[in-house]
Amino acid sequence: MKFSLKLLLSTVMVLAAALGFTGYFFVNYVFETSLSREARQALDENSILRFAFETAALNVPTKYDVLQDHTLEQIASNLETSGQRTGRLLRLSGEEKNVLYASEGFEADSALLLQAEENVRSWQVIFLSGRYYVQTVSGLHAMDRMLYLETLRDVSEVFEERELGFVVYRRVTVLMLALGACIMHFIASVLTRPIRQLKKATKRMAAGEYGYRAKRLSADELGQLTRDFNRMAQALEENMKELEAQVQDREDFVAAFAHELKTPLTSIIGYADMLRSRRLDEEKSFLSANYIYTEGKRLEAMSLRLLDIIVTKRQKVEFQTVSVQLLFDYLQEMFTAREDMEFLFSCEEAMVSMEANLIKTVLINLVDNACKASEEHGRVAVTGKREDAGYRFAVQDHGVGIEREEISKITKAFYMVDKSRARSKNGAGLGLALCVEILALHGSRLKIESETGKGSRFSFVLPMAEREAV
Ligand code: ADP
Repeated sequence: MKFSLKLLLSTVMVLAAALGFTGYFFVNYVFETSLSREARQALDENSILRFAFETAALNVPTKYDVLQDHTLEQIASNLETSGQRTGRLLRLSGEEKNVLYASEGFEADSALLLQAEENVRSWQVIFLSGRYYVQTVSGLHAMDRMLYLETLRDVSEVFEERELGFVVYRRVTVLMLALGACIMHFIASVLTRPIRQLKKATKRMAAGEYGYRAKRLSADELGQLTRDFNRMAQALEENMKELEAQVQDREDFVAAFAHELKTPLTSIIGYADMLRSRRLDEEKSFLSANYIYTEGKRLEAMSLRLLDIIVTKRQKVEFQTVSVQLLFDYLQEMFTAREDMEFLFSCEEAMVSMEANLIKTVLINLVDNACKASEEHGRVAVTGKREDAGYRFAVQDHGVGIEREEISKITKAFYMVDKSRARSKNGAGLGLALCVEILALHGSRLKIESETGKGSRFSFVLPMAEREAV
């Protein structure tokens, strides 16, 4: 069942119960008040009749000092006829509670009379031939006689009014319920709008529309729920995109890896086949064997690089405090042996926090790439400088440069801008991917600035160390 319907039904039920109870108590209260007013009036009437009876009895000539039964009957009859217009009904009984006189139609039983006491007035409601009456009884003294006077007062109107009250109230209740249900239906649909919005958003997200957001319609708890839901949807969408990108990267990696394997293997198989199927002269045999050897070496280098990347990804770095000067001395010693290039090493001395061997790998890769991109005897500058954010290492060349749209791709595994040129220089497109992994372990990123034809600058920042050098 819909939440708005539940809300509507429960409100209507509470409203019906409230109206029912109030109506019942209200109509009954009016009835009780009217009935006790009628009873009071009946008792007053009884008192007046009693007084009139006693006065009439006093005026009777007292021949024998005793009031005869027929005299009493006469007085009672006179009293009855004097109130004929009001339909007065009375009954007179003697000391022994024996009936002396009763109006026509006074059919009440003697239950009230039997309980009657001398100085107590009492009353009760009775139902006689389809009508309701208040029956009263009181004792009276007429000369030497103790008598009981009963009256009947028709109070059917009070009961009819109660019935009418119930009927009217029932109609009012039904009307109020119908009106209340309409109003509540409107309120429930307004109140549950945010829930419908959330439901719609969930459905669309379940159908794969991760960018869909629920409209926030209020600032209350439901509004907060919508906001939290949207935040969750946002996080979910970002995670999904990240996962999709990761899957795409993995697929690209596998495709590139297969391709990179295929190229050297084709050469190896081709040359090996030539060696085994034909008799070649010594020079051709050497050339074939040499191709097999160099391509095999390239495969070996590639698998070692891949291993490096995988190991680096899983590695936990143990940071050391390293003197930049010592690091630069090491690099200078390594590269100055190369006579085909011109190197410039310059650094500000500082203590930097790093895993020295890994950072050496990064710098060697960057310098290697700079050499590959440069003309013979081109100049490669390796610099180190303090900055606000830390210590910046940079490798700059004046080589071929990289096109703007290629810059974001070259750090991906196996990506080479010019494949034949890269392969001819023993490249496999894995060097920068390894650099990026190593820098990520250090919490740093590779910054690439380049202009085609003018050269490139690869740099990264490492944190300065607070401790002394090891
Ligand atoms: P590799 O050098 O083994 O080919 P890398 O991952 O180190 O692989 O580099 C990827 C590609 O990025 C290279 O093939 C080259 O096209 C480009 N590249 C890297 N460094 C430079 C540079 N300094 N100048 C121009 N292109 C570069």
